[in-house]
Amino acid sequence: TPIIMWFRRDLRLSDHPALKAACDSGCPVIPVVIRDGSVDDLGAAPKWRWGLGVEHLAQSLADKGSKLIFRSGDALKVLQKLIEETGAGAVYWSRLYDPQAVERDSTIKATLKEQDIDARSYGGHLMFEPWTAETKTGGFYKVYTPFWRSVKDREVDAPLSTPGRIPAPDAWPDSEALDDWALGSAMNRGAEIVRPYVRLGESAAQSRLGAFMASKVASYDNGRDIPAEDRTSNLSENLALGEISPHQCWHAGVRALDEGKAGAETFLKELVWREFAYHLMHHTPRIVDQNWKEDWDSFPWNEDERRAEVKAWKQGRTGIQFVDAAMREMYVTGRMHNRGRMIVASYLCKHLMCHWRIGQRWFDDCLIDWDPASNAMGWQWSAGSGPDATPYFRVFNPVTQLDKFDKNRDYVSRWIAEGRSNKASEALSYFDAIPRSWNMSPDDGYPDPIVAADQGRKRALSAYENRDF
Ligand code: FAD
Repeated sequence: TPIIMWFRRDLRLSDHPALKAACDSGCPVIPVVIRDGSVDDLGAAPKWRWGLGVEHLAQSLADKGSKLIFRSGDALKVLQKLIEETGAGAVYWSRLYDPQAVERDSTIKATLKEQDIDARSYGGHLMFEPWTAETKTGGFYKVYTPFWRSVKDREVDAPLSTPGRIPAPDAWPDSEALDDWALGSAMNRGAEIVRPYVRLGESAAQSRLGAFMASKVASYDNGRDIPAEDRTSNLSENLALGEISPHQCWHAGVRALDEGKAGAETFLKELVWREFAYHLMHHTPRIVDQNWKEDWDSFPWNEDERRAEVKAWKQGRTGIQFVDAAMREMYVTGRMHNRGRMIVASYLCKHLMCHWRIGQRWFDDCLIDWDPASNAMGWQWSAGSGPDATPYFRVFNPVTQLDKFDKNRDYVSRWIAEGRSNKASEALSYFDAIPRSWNMSPDDGYPDPIVAADQGRKRALSAYENRDF
């Protein structure tokens, strides 16, 4: 009897425990993706990027004589219908950890089991299942460094090989057409502008990892903070969709460490930040949309998204160069350098005193490396409301940060065109990407700060001092 292999955010064939188990069973395998509410709910760029990844996966499966079936609707109903049509006796998938997926998947598992269907979830998205790391007192970790210490010497499973063959059923069930799903329809910024920045699929991800280990990891310790330079792995895009596994990245990092490459340990630590985000989301699911520290519910955040300041922040015209450059980088490339993410988040939550959820939602819409756990943790870390967060009173100064991390202003001149005689092509491409209603032109003057660095800092600190918790 066939096994249904339900792909979600695990868009690869190598090091894929669920797929490997399905293939090793010798039963025919029916790969499927389902466009359910969780896909419809994705922001514009993550949904579009998922669609590209799925299309690529369909090709990789076809190259192996298999076929990816596209179905839409409530996931349980879709699976039950497929089981009825194909006589499948099992459904396999790779585990996800966001609260919405956990709820859906546990209902599906319980219901299918009642119907004598072998519903099985596998690991693969994470190196360390979130419930396997425990503090000495049996709780979960709320601070990164002890979490790192507890996992760093663990044996990480060696990556599994790609199945040589994916056994096909005698007949394929019907499939919808991926194009009809129009997953890019909300990409108002023009998918063709973002597309050149995408590295799609597992072989591109493997090349990225290889190139990083060959030429970037040695100087990663210092290089990773310079937003104008391409000195990080850029693997978040692929990790977010499972086009590469964290195990593959980890083992490459360990090899680099053994070869004495300087930045290798820092890279391993970054991979563990991703695991930590998932650890936190598993143990405190509210992190995705509620202040992790409940005290912060009474902080006078501004939650009105329609304010002019929020609009200026989203549009990259706050008049604070570091903030604007980073916001524009995200709009055009679907990515933002980590230093930029920290600066724009701090500016929004502290200088503009806006609720972090406003920023989180904009990132949800713009990032091609969008990840539910890392995005939520990143925002709450920046806002001060999260576990192991940067304290609210430590306010990044976006002007002095520029002197530190963009001394020659390479980054800001790459992304800001106004007021410059030599306009960089990236900066100009921003004006091609934005909607006409934003009414911005590269020939405009560059705006004065909407909230100056010092003024915003004082206002934020005074709100913090007067808080009632
Ligand atoms: P590298 O420096 O090469 O690091 C290797 C890998 O480690 C990354 O690919 C990523 O998977 C992981 N990693 C690195 N830093 C972090 C971190 N701080 N938290 C969690 N994992 C990390 N990352 C996302 O993948 N998706 C998001 O939606 C996301 N949103 C963020 C929002 C905010 C406000 C902040 C401050 C950070 C956010 N991050 C997010 C974390 C981080 O900025 C990105 O992971 C990183 O910039 C990706 O670039 P890279 O792949 O070149 O990373």
